[in-house]
Amino acid sequence: MELICPIDQHCSNQIAALLRPPSLPLVQEYFEQLISKRRCQGIKVKQNGEFGKGVFADADFEEEELIFKDQMLVGAQHPSNKIDCLVCSYCFKFIGSVEQQIGRRLYLKTLGIGISSHNGCESNSSDEDEEDHFVQNNHISENGASSSSGSTIPLPTTTVQSLMNGEFALPYSNKFPLPSIISCPGGCEEAFYCSKSCAEADWESSHCLLCTGEKSECCSRKALLKFIQHANETNDIFLLAAKAISFTILRYRKLKASHLSEQEKTASSILGTDLSLLLEAWKPISIGHKRRWWDCVSLPDDIDASDEATFRREIRELAFTSLQLLKEAIFDMECEPLFSLEIYGHIIGMFELNNLDLVVASPVEDYFLYIDDLPYPEKKEAEKITQLYLDALGEDYSICCQGTAFFPLQSCMNHSCCPNAKAFKREEDRDGQATIITLRPICKGNEVTISYIDEDLSFEERQALLADYGFRCRCPKCLDEET
Ligand SMILES: [Zn+2]
Ligand SMILES: [Zn+2]
Repeated sequence: MELICPIDQHCSNQIAALLRPPSLPLVQEYFEQLISKRRCQGIKVKQNGEFGKGVFADADFEEEELIFKDQMLVGAQHPSNKIDCLVCSYCFKFIGSVEQQIGRRLYLKTLGIGISSHNGCESNSSDEDEEDHFVQNNHISENGASSSSGSTIPLPTTTVQSLMNGEFALPYSNKFPLPSIISCPGGCEEAFYCSKSCAEADWESSHCLLCTGEKSECCSRKALLKFIQHANETNDIFLLAAKAISFTILRYRKLKASHLSEQEKTASSILGTDLSLLLEAWKPISIGHKRRWWDCVSLPDDIDASDEATFRREIRELAFTSLQLLKEAIFDMECEPLFSLEIYGHIIGMFELNNLDLVVASPVEDYFLYIDDLPYPEKKEAEKITQLYLDALGEDYSICCQGTAFFPLQSCMNHSCCPNAKAFKREEDRDGQATIITLRPICKGNEVTISYIDEDLSFEERQALLADYGFRCRCPKCLDEET
């Protein structure tokens, strides 16, 4: 039996308005504002009939030049990665100290929850950077757990503890200072920040509704914990969708408050949902290309094509279960359409289709590389200490921060199998922003493209992978190989 979401039915008009693709001038205006706010003047977002939006160079770029940096709209670290890396929940910079990063990981490992899932630290799987040979490429398995990380030599608990609480300093670690840890003002002890400004910005943009601490502004902390647990056990993409909904509700409330204070002069007020304000609050999310999650998610390899309908129905049911839990936790009557399965499915589908990885390199790797590069006597002296920790950490001694995020500008970039740019973190790029660098010179007016896949694959393999994104590639390389 087909399950029916009651909100889908009685909010159908508002839902249709939210899902209507934004008009051309509105898209144009949104990106012009975004580009000027971010000071990435070298680009323009243009709508071109056939492929939707595209990013175009508005200046000449040389090879390996930074084109732009893109701040995420919403993003989250993978729950399993939280064991390996302690990062700011807002900007994703590593925080604490090298000692804390190492000590915390070893401590959590001894508790038996240190089996991390990760699939390498490269933001683009086709990048073969020589420098990355320290990064282990374990493959993520179906349930998110990776193969075990080889043999390690454990350290005594007291040693690990003194590393964690700052009593013991590793040699030369002062060369790698990190911002100190700021706890969540809501008291959840789950979100941590690099600065007061990140803590405040996160609280205001989404965390005040999703915080499980005592100052949380959610309707029920118990329900919220249930929602989070369900997402952790099933698919962490729900956590990201919850952030997008919370972000929109909070924007709506702010818009309404400023609207009301203006109206006070004429002594009138608005009751109930104001659709125009909700549409305005939703605008940043409305820009992203979306389809329903259960319609666009690709069929896993181990599911037979004959079971496809069942698979898609189950995905829809899973989303519905998650949505009911979220609704109990943060429902807002004035933003009711946001709690429809139709909107929830489209938000998740937006993350699925845009599939943008959040990756931040770890200072732990830099630290051990630095020790390895020291001149002989100093190196020998330092290694007497550091080797113990390296052995305790094992092969995967350094794991980068990984997650999923929605980057508004990067999500407008079209694919090419012979791209002229790539998403690439340079040495100095140490937070969650996406960084786009040229692969070859780009002249003003030309489209800036990246590859969504490994462009060295065969023509057939590439087309098969790109079909998941919903298009057939017509780049010069594909046109050439097709004949
Ligand atoms: Zn931060
Ligand atoms: Zn919190």
